[in-house]
Amino acid sequence: MTVKAKHHIVIVGGGTAGITVAARLLRKGYSDIAVIEPSDQHYYQPLWTLVGGGQAKASTSARPEAKVMPAEAIWIRNTVQSVDPEANTVTCADDSVYEYDALVVCPGIQLDWNKTEGLEQTLGRDGVSSNYRFDLAPKTWDFIQKTRSGSAVFMMPSGPIKCGGAPQKIAYLASDYWRKQGVLKDIDVHLVVPTPRIFGIGPIADSLDTVIADYGIQLHTMSEVTSIDADSRKVTVTAVGEGGTDTTLPFDMLHAVPRQSAPDWIKASPLSTGDANGYVEVDKFTMQHVRYPNVFALGDAGSTPNGKTGAAVRKQAPVVVDNLDAHFKGRPPAAEYHGYSSCPIVTSSHDMLLAEFDYDFNITPSWPIIDSTKPHRPYWYLKKYGLPFLYWNFMLKGLA
Ligand SMILES: Cc1cc2nc3c(=O)[nH]c(=O)nc-3n(C[C@H](O)[C@H](O)[C@H](O)COP(=O)(O)OP(=O)(O)OC[C@H]3O[C@@H](n4cnc5c(N)ncnc54)[C@H](O)[C@@H]3O)c2cc1C
Repeated sequence: MTVKAKHHIVIVGGGTAGITVAARLLRKGYSDIAVIEPSDQHYYQPLWTLVGGGQAKASTSARPEAKVMPAEAIWIRNTVQSVDPEANTVTCADDSVYEYDALVVCPGIQLDWNKTEGLEQTLGRDGVSSNYRFDLAPKTWDFIQKTRSGSAVFMMPSGPIKCGGAPQKIAYLASDYWRKQGVLKDIDVHLVVPTPRIFGIGPIADSLDTVIADYGIQLHTMSEVTSIDADSRKVTVTAVGEGGTDTTLPFDMLHAVPRQSAPDWIKASPLSTGDANGYVEVDKFTMQHVRYPNVFALGDAGSTPNGKTGAAVRKQAPVVVDNLDAHFKGRPPAAEYHGYSSCPIVTSSHDMLLAEFDYDFNITPSWPIIDSTKPHRPYWYLKKYGLPFLYWNFMLKGLA
């Protein structure tokens, strides 16, 4: 093994978390920060819901990675394949090895399309699409527009996923569109979720039950789509617990969301929790690895039990930076993340409710003046214009 280069801090992944942490470390005065990121595009994924719902262009969610990479950061255009936390090295796809003093791990979550039988081969055709991929989100909108009658199925898989609200948001946007077209009455809309209620917080679930009833959506709780037969255009629904349903549903369009887990190379590494999801095992408050004090993780690849969102990253990043700083100065990590996450749930083409909560599912509204558990128009403007502006101009620059 030959080390190609050593950097003071190596960040794996130049997505939402990686760029935010790099920018904040530079602002704190750190240098020699390398970001290992293979993609030449950076995505603001929250917009993909609006793309699938016909309310935004896919191109507005993407910018060249070179434009968001802080000028003083060293961009290594490569893919990490393994990590040796005893030797303080990461190895990339071309066998190049990088050594670090400290490592920040944030390569995002892996989309396990193959864990739902029949899904992978039908993606993008036969009425099956997913907002979980940049190239497919516009297809979702195509299929929504083409559906004038029949049956539409929206699915949420079991297990942790990024943006737990995304599987249901698109059901509301589609229903709103079909209602405006006068065809909602001719479409059976099914929403299949593995949870006991549509949302884990009572008052928000109550609001969403009203939205669901208003559109006439048939909600299947404690159930999961386990296989897709594109030829007969049917999905198999399997109960995941008490109150669930075992059935088959026909579909003319299907919005699919894959099961998700840590990237396989993380699962196979000493950094992993070692369970089926295999995330990087960090302390849920300090974001520091539980066995390797010079390793931190945040974002979708970390084991912290929060809702996996960019909003969570915004609160995690300053904690990682402060505790890295403490680590280098020989102090115990004092900064804490308390599980803040936020899920902007668009309920129509002009309304949204903003679920903000912590580890204990306490509601933590940023604007207590507006009842965040109910849909409001100002929130919709926040989603379409305010949050993307905040993301590109402040969060990625380490300013928010
Ligand atoms: C449809 C959809 C809707 C969403 N809606 C919202 C929302 O409304 N609000 C919200 O806050 N969040 C939302 N999210 C979630 C949000 O986008 C993610 O939680 C956030 O991007 C996580 O940041 P991250 O840096 O952990 O991962 P990412 O932003 O996914 O970045 C991971 C980066 O790591 C890179 N990478 C991967 N593997 C490797 C490797 N082996 N080596 C080096 N680099 C690697 C990738 O190329 C990528 O650039 C949504 C997501 C989706 C898909």
